[in-house]
Amino acid sequence: MANVNTKAHVLVRDGFACRLCGALLLLPQAIKLLDRQVPGLDLYDAHGKTEPLRSRWATVDHVIPEIQGGMDTLDNLVACCVVCNSRKGGTVGPRREAQTRAIAWDGLSSLFLELASTHARHLSGEDKRWRDALGREGIEASLAHLQAAVDILQTLKRDPGMDLDARLSFLARSMPEGA
Ligand SMILES: [Zn+2]
Repeated sequence: MANVNTKAHVLVRDGFACRLCGALLLLPQAIKLLDRQVPGLDLYDAHGKTEPLRSRWATVDHVIPEIQGGMDTLDNLVACCVVCNSRKGGTVGPRREAQTRAIAWDGLSSLFLELASTHARHLSGEDKRWRDALGREGIEASLAHLQAAVDILQTLKRDPGMDLDARLSFLARSMPEGA
């Protein structure tokens, strides 16, 4: 699978939205550090099996599968949610154009970069690669959405059926211009 630099580039290019279903995505590394920042939040599960946000984890998928000769090239990779990514069989189906939205959404990666400097000694090698790659993509560290993100994610934990896209869109609209 593509390396972290390629994945970060694809996710930023696609605005951290699934190119198949349009769902807004969350950077797992951001969830992990939110748990460190806010004791008791307890939203991250390294294996992505039990925590309620798993379906929104930001992944990258091949348009033409590797088994059919698809390569790890930028034009063959799209941002994808875990649900769409785990659907088996053939090509990944009708894909959306990367959306040009009135809102900017960065999958909480600006928050991740800010928390990465606060919790530097807890970062894994993989976390550091994400930090460096997102920085090179022009994402700037910011704590601007800490409280709003915590509120939304805590609500989601209590009510897994809530409309996450509506809540994330609201959060995204409050992001600084061009962030
Ligand atoms: Zn999807």
